[in-house]
Amino acid sequence: MDCGPGSARRLAELGIAWQTITHVAITHFHIDHHSDLPPLLFAWKYGMLPRRSAPLHLIGPVGTKSLLERLATAHGEWVTAPGYPVHVTELAPGASLDLGATRLDCTKVPHTPESMAYSVSHGGRRLVYSGDTGFDAAFAQWAAGCDLLVLECSLPKSMAIVEHLTPEQCGEIAHLAAPRMLVLTHLYPPVESVDIRALVAERYDGPLVIAQDGWSTDLGD
Ligand SMILES: [Zn+2]
Ligand SMILES: [Zn+2]
Repeated sequence: MDCGPGSARRLAELGIAWQTITHVAITHFHIDHHSDLPPLLFAWKYGMLPRRSAPLHLIGPVGTKSLLERLATAHGEWVTAPGYPVHVTELAPGASLDLGATRLDCTKVPHTPESMAYSVSHGGRRLVYSGDTGFDAAFAQWAAGCDLLVLECSLPKSMAIVEHLTPEQCGEIAHLAAPRMLVLTHLYPPVESVDIRALVAERYDGPLVIAQDGWSTDLGD
């Protein structure tokens, strides 16, 4: 989900099998959430032997098709015709997508007009990813009871804006949604100078992981 700058390189560095990715879902059209789409499409075209034949399914808000066409105008027609099928599915907020054993749901969040959060359900487990969002109790309700809640946590309270979350607001959303585990990501440098863990703990005392660049762990099952 989402593929901002450096995604392709990070996947390789972390030893994740980027070659076998079949679905990419983007939450909105800010460049920090999709700029590595062309590098990924390029790597799937030229960076693999034998050549890729598996289709790539790109999922996103209404406007994703147009985004891909504009990227092809900038970079070349290989973006939309890389030699393997590229299927684009545009979802309206509230839509569900049946992916076999996995189901993808989306809901509107307050950030840009097209911004959506995603929910991935598989084998009785549910992951919710906020994408970028401002505080929204309805989103917290939608995420309620999920196993893993991944929230953006952009700015400290002193710099708060309505389009992004503060650690305090992440704590409040996690309090309302009560996930089995909370992960915070999308941290702008200023938020890293406050005690994120303590501020979240004012409202939420469950398990918390704060994302770090280039860091991964086995979270078990
Ligand atoms: Zn954004
Ligand atoms: Zn962003």
